[in-house]
Amino acid sequence: MAKVIDSKIPAGPVPEKWKEYKAHQRLVNPKNKLKLDVIVVGTGLAGASAAASLGEMGFNVINLCIQDSPRRAHSIAAQGGINAAKCYQNDGDSVYRLFYDTVKGGDYRAREANVYRLAEVSNNIIDQCVAQGVPFAREYGGMLANRSFGGAQVSRTFYAKGQTGQQLLLGAYSSLSCQVQAGKVKLYTRYEMEDVVIVDGRARGIIAKNLVTGKLERFSANAVVIATGGYGNTYFLSTNAMGCNCTAAVQCYRKGAYFANPSYVQIHPTCIPVHGDKQSKLTLMSESLRNDGRIWVPKKIEDAKALQAGTKQGWEIPEEDRDYYLERRYPAFGNLVPRDVASRAAKERCDKGFGVNNTGLAVFLDFSESINRLGLDVIMQRYGNLFEMYEEITDVFPGDVANEINGVKYYKPMMIYPAIHYTMGGIWVDYELQTSIPGLFAIGECNFSDHGANRLGASALMQGLADGYFVLPYTIQNYLADQAVWPKVSTDLPEFAEAEKKVDAELDRLLNIKGKRSVDSIHKELGHIMWEYVGMGRTAEGLKTGLKKMHELEKEFDENLFVPGTKEGLNIELDKAIHLRDFFTMGQLVAFDALSRNESCGGHFREEYQTEEGEAKRDDENYFYVGCWEYKGKGNEPELIKEPLEYEAIKVQTRNYKN
Ligand SMILES: Cc1cc2nc3c(=O)[nH]c(=O)nc-3n(C[C@H](O)[C@H](O)[C@H](O)COP(=O)(O)OP(=O)(O)OC[C@H]3O[C@@H](n4cnc5c(N)ncnc54)[C@H](O)[C@@H]3O)c2cc1C
Repeated sequence: MAKVIDSKIPAGPVPEKWKEYKAHQRLVNPKNKLKLDVIVVGTGLAGASAAASLGEMGFNVINLCIQDSPRRAHSIAAQGGINAAKCYQNDGDSVYRLFYDTVKGGDYRAREANVYRLAEVSNNIIDQCVAQGVPFAREYGGMLANRSFGGAQVSRTFYAKGQTGQQLLLGAYSSLSCQVQAGKVKLYTRYEMEDVVIVDGRARGIIAKNLVTGKLERFSANAVVIATGGYGNTYFLSTNAMGCNCTAAVQCYRKGAYFANPSYVQIHPTCIPVHGDKQSKLTLMSESLRNDGRIWVPKKIEDAKALQAGTKQGWEIPEEDRDYYLERRYPAFGNLVPRDVASRAAKERCDKGFGVNNTGLAVFLDFSESINRLGLDVIMQRYGNLFEMYEEITDVFPGDVANEINGVKYYKPMMIYPAIHYTMGGIWVDYELQTSIPGLFAIGECNFSDHGANRLGASALMQGLADGYFVLPYTIQNYLADQAVWPKVSTDLPEFAEAEKKVDAELDRLLNIKGKRSVDSIHKELGHIMWEYVGMGRTAEGLKTGLKKMHELEKEFDENLFVPGTKEGLNIELDKAIHLRDFFTMGQLVAFDALSRNESCGGHFREEYQTEEGEAKRDDENYFYVGCWEYKGKGNEPELIKEPLEYEAIKVQTRNYKN
């Protein structure tokens, strides 16, 4: 029988759990002049908010990031918004409804109690951010404005134009700076965590590389928190920032932290389609655009063929010949179905030959109806920077009138296609956000905790800030309360020396391969394998082939990689080589998990398991668990450990977005 792990959820009905739990917190009094040190790796929304909060509570925080400023963390890319159950629109929203939508959106594969807690603290996040001065959009009367995101029939998303992540991060950064000034947070920019140091079975520190000097440095603390983001860049092409990597998470996994649900990868429906083989980045067009944009392909195959051949343009196709396929298939949610559903529906149309673009791999996102109804000014107020971004990349401005048919103005539509965007899987954490290594915590996108098999739009920022501002600062104290009697360990301990030696040897190994292939050329090939065999539609055969190809390519990496330069000073190629080494481990983990899960759920779609209508077919009898993986050495299959899911407040059922 597979090993089973405990998520440390206190007993009691779900809504009571978090309240009861909070009552047990041993709050730290900043006046106590605590000598407890915490390392927080990462300064995205999760890391910056956690470091600022811990500093404010009296801990001494060491905060590291790979960018030259915390403000440049990947979180600034977030465009569309952040959810909260404020019910400002008086549309029937509530904590319970946000909780319910999130569990349902995750295809009933999230841990119920965590999601409830997330929904409960969501409102505090908005208050906190407003107090920091985050310039959320407001209604004419001064109330905070809202829009809708996928998987919800209420309007609960708070936003700052199409720059919500940036504005939230500036808020978190100002709190962080306050603590830096107060001497409670020491910031290390351009530092990369290379390993976690375990002493007597507990995480006691890290080895980090100074990315400017190339030197390895040791840091010790009473606890380590990683907030290092997701692993989407395993696929090479994704909407993630180029610097996103999973090295910290994979090193923790190699040291014994379980990795949960790696196969739950989110493919976002509204990205600018791939336009060539020289591309290294994909651009997201925010889901918020689906509030006012309508998604369609031609009804007639001959129109699709003409569009692909370039002999016809989208705006020449009249209303009656357009297939608004999401509105047709899912009348209750229409264009605002969750991302996994919308992505699969786009793929289905394109696979059947109805795709647009010269590749046939795109669908239209059209603003004609909303511009005609609301005027271009209103639409620009809502999405101006997204329209400009689209124009900059494609040379098409979606607010330009292109045609008039029967008195109706048709504007130039955007073309979009699904792309890798977010990873629901991550380091396994218990209810206290502690990993399976005592003293090691994981927050934000790098943990697995709240989104099940599919994350709803605008819920990543909510989770990152919930973890950082409102959950970890309390839960970590349960661990640290017992640590107060222990002195911080010295970085001269053999465990630190050993870890540093290993990292150094790895750098030498990579530099000394002296083969012929660049990091990027191998990474791109890995990306092709991932997309082809471990992407939107997976099969057992394909996953096995993918694993075989990944092993072969990893061998090529080990034998034929070329990294120029030395380990002294700045060496970006060397840093990328380390990341790629870890993307190989990650890619295989995604495939192992996908192969072991003989069902389709959320972002994990096994083609063998689908309904006649092409919807995901779950198998709750056999797969109603969190799949956690334990590392068993390079080249070996990891071991699966199960955390059974228990639902008390929500009835587990088949997702329905039709009515
Ligand atoms: C284009 C785009 C738009 C999005 N829009 C939205 C949206 O509108 N709403 C929403 O809810 N979500 C959105 N998301 C998702 C959301 O932005 C992310 O999930 C979230 O910002 C992740 O935050 P994080 O703090 O966990 O990690 P990140 O922001 O990725 O930060 C990771 C941090 O860890 C550091 N780091 C990484 N590795 C190391 C290492 N080894 N050593 C030291 N430091 C390290 C980095 O320097 C960085 O500071 C979007 C994502 C993308 C790509």
